[in-house]
Amino acid sequence: MENIHNYINGALLAPVSSLYIDNINPATGEVYSFCPDSDERDVALAYEAAAAAFPSWSEMPVSERSKIMLKIAQLIEERTSELALAESIDQGKPLWLAKNGEIPRAQSNIHFFATAIEHFASEAHPMGNHALNYTLRTPIGIVGCISPWNLPLYLFTWKIAPALAAGNCVVAKPSEVTPMTAYLFSQICIDAGLPKGVLNIVHGLGPKVGSAIVAHEKITAISFTGGTKTGAEIARVAAPMFKKLSLELGGKNPSIIFADCDFEKTVKESVRASFTNQGEICLCGSRIYVERSIYEKFKTAFVSQVASLKIGDPLHADTKVGAIASKVHFDKVLSYIELAKEEGGTILSGGKAFKVEGICSQGFFIEPTVIEGLGHLCRTNQEEIFGPVVSIQPFDSEAEVLEMANSTQYGLACTVFTENLSKAHRVAAQIKSGIVWINCWLLRDLRTPFGGVKQSGVGREGGWEALRFFTETKNVCVKI
Ligand code: NDP
Repeated sequence: MENIHNYINGALLAPVSSLYIDNINPATGEVYSFCPDSDERDVALAYEAAAAAFPSWSEMPVSERSKIMLKIAQLIEERTSELALAESIDQGKPLWLAKNGEIPRAQSNIHFFATAIEHFASEAHPMGNHALNYTLRTPIGIVGCISPWNLPLYLFTWKIAPALAAGNCVVAKPSEVTPMTAYLFSQICIDAGLPKGVLNIVHGLGPKVGSAIVAHEKITAISFTGGTKTGAEIARVAAPMFKKLSLELGGKNPSIIFADCDFEKTVKESVRASFTNQGEICLCGSRIYVERSIYEKFKTAFVSQVASLKIGDPLHADTKVGAIASKVHFDKVLSYIELAKEEGGTILSGGKAFKVEGICSQGFFIEPTVIEGLGHLCRTNQEEIFGPVVSIQPFDSEAEVLEMANSTQYGLACTVFTENLSKAHRVAAQIKSGIVWINCWLLRDLRTPFGGVKQSGVGREGGWEALRFFTETKNVCVKI
């Protein structure tokens, strides 16, 4: 079985402790590789390597930085099949989803910022004939990037790409639940000729490696994607050190379905928004609010499509719902289904673990689950479950659905289905979230600002927002 290595100073290294954590294939429940159990000593080495690489990387002409990153993007594209297979085995997602969605998106992340940086300009503010202000944007220095297990390479590269393009050197930690594609990515960086120390990947546990990155006094910016509780802990440590922080946190996203929607398309898109990647996407809609006049019709059609989703071996082409990423998360999701029943919910579809015959018989599978009969303020409808579980509830008026949709501590994304243009704009304006999709879900343009409000996060990723985050701004005022 393979040992995964850290990537520090351009080399693939064992952790200083020589200790490893079992890496489990969630579809079979079996250990299939070992992830370094690194600690603050590995983070210190990674920092030293990054600090040594910083002067030359930050001073390298943008066109040359861009060229190296484009080579990385090209190698991701060439190795899509290998990366997709690794991601599917490591995370439990269907192979076709990794191949057509996640890995191409990781390639796009690198490609997008490799080219964006060549167009990243700053502003000038002339004061008539008296003076001229101009803005300088310079790389921050050594930055920390910490990412979760649900879209491993996709979210990892979404942070690393703008950080590197802007001229920073990076100490990064992927989730220890899904380390494999970040490891393959480190090999790609070596093959692409990324200078040593520019990117350092330290594998291991959040409370050891993640917290050591956050607490390191010379790592002055942290870009984090993960749970709200972890985000709060990171802010608690980083804020008194005055680190720059970007926090992309949890969600409990509403899907609002008006009676005047395009019915067939709405049912199909709602199923996709609910259960893609086993519902383990921060943007998945988990609270479905349906206008009462079409509630029964929608419910019947929705449940029928959900019940037909094939659960199974992630490597099979016809699998629509793969394995839950880990046993811990599997138990958590099942506990929420029990909670929903205790809170008076009725299970319309699914509601339990699913046994896949054959090599996946010990895997962590859960039936896509639809629950009705819950009030919008109960825990099931307020807390993030982050799995294949949705609730469905009728509403009578726009005001009522807005009140229900806005009732959680989260504010990441919202999906609205209506053919009435005015209503769509009106509702979009009143939803308290960072992202609103009208008649679609997860349609992404990498130039747009991405992030949440309330406890879904602080700051925005994507496009210029990301490049601004990863640079320091200085105003120079010249008296004429
Ligand atoms: P966690 O918050 O548990 O972990 C995220 C990352 O932080 C992991 O690499 C983890 O390591 C690390 N970590 C854990 N504790 C600390 C710490 N004290 N200091 C520094 N780093 C730490 O989230 P999950 O991995 O469980 O991911 C699921 C969550 O991510 C959900 O809440 C989901 O909504 C959110 N998410 C948000 C997105 C967004 O864009 N807003 C996108 C995708 C997911 P380890 O794995 O070893 O614990």
